Amino acid sequence: MTAMNETTAAGKPRVLWVNVLMFVFTMLGAVVVVPWYGFTVGYSTAAWVWCVVLLYANGLAITGGYHRLWSHRTYDAHWSLRFIYMILGAMALQNSVLVWASGHRDHHQYVDDNDRDPYSAGRGLWFSHIGWMLRRYPSGKWHFDNVRDLQKDPLVAFQHKYYYPLAIGLNVFVPLTLGWLHGDLWGVFLLAGVLRLVLSHHFTFLINSAAHAFGRQPYTDENSARDNPWLAVLTYGEGYHNFHHLFAHDYRNGIRWWQWDPSKWIICALSWIGVTYRLKRTPDITIQRARLAMQFRRVQESLERRKPHLPHMDLEQLRAKMAREYDLFVETLAEWSRVTDAWYTRTREQIVHRLEEASFRTETRAILYQLRMQHRRLQLLGAQLA
Ligand SMILES: [Zn+2]
Ligand SMILES: [Zn+2]
Repeated sequence: MTAMNETTAAGKPRVLWVNVLMFVFTMLGAVVVVPWYGFTVGYSTAAWVWCVVLLYANGLAITGGYHRLWSHRTYDAHWSLRFIYMILGAMALQNSVLVWASGHRDHHQYVDDNDRDPYSAGRGLWFSHIGWMLRRYPSGKWHFDNVRDLQKDPLVAFQHKYYYPLAIGLNVFVPLTLGWLHGDLWGVFLLAGVLRLVLSHHFTFLINSAAHAFGRQPYTDENSARDNPWLAVLTYGEGYHNFHHLFAHDYRNGIRWWQWDPSKWIICALSWIGVTYRLKRTPDITIQRARLAMQFRRVQESLERRKPHLPHMDLEQLRAKMAREYDLFVETLAEWSRVTDAWYTRTREQIVHRLEEASFRTETRAILYQLRMQHRRLQLLGAQLA
């Protein structure tokens, strides 16, 4: 298609009618037909169960497969799991792995650049949520330059070639077959087919919109991504988006055990039986370093803000405290470099003994402990200045 055909006479990018109609009809089905059928006929338990099961199956195929496996290569997976991801991901109706991953890699590389990030948060909530799919925007133009590695995966290539028959077939025949088996054809179709698809779409879209607008930025403020535990519940763990944008090669998004990240739990559990392997994790100290660097900046900013309201003595004391903490931070990081450099030299020379390995781990733990304690002290300092 030539550049001339990409815009309307008014100079706006052309409307993608297939997408518009798909979103409008499925949404109307979910907000009008689904409640109407519920009130007039009612739904079977099977319809509700399949709605939840397929919602999770599709969602996890997008987060564990499309996102963490294919877009970011945060781990490797046996072909059987890639096959399941490929099928359930096609059913989620969010385009093929190739298209999705290419756009997503652009999103990370050019995040917040309104001309190059396909769903740039800088263009507003509507655009980043769904608007970017409704017109032929230049920033959303397909190209596969950044997914050459994925084109070599025969399952990915197969899915891309047969995406439309797969996606349409799965969305029509799976719910209808399940409905027929349970003797509730239209009930299952409406809940497990229509409602499930709409919820699955918008839950995923929230990552591009809400997770770039609402929440905390504990690791970086160089882009708009936010950590939001509420969104994590709706998105199978993807709500820890601030962490994800800084450490995109980590298979985890929620790094604490209590953070809701079922995608991580499944990837990790499957590694115990060898279905997933080479799981990538960011070292704890690297994470702590990023978190503390942000904290220092925040406390410093609070100090500057509160400056006119503080007595001279208090101000000097707080400044001295901050300077001491910062020196300690620099010292701890220098200690960390010294320990790792020595370790790498020893491993290169292949003279590592078990005892040395144990002492390396102890030193690492001690450094991590120091950084965590410093995080707590800075939290207290920040609270004093709030
Ligand atoms: Zn993002
Ligand atoms: Zn990502």
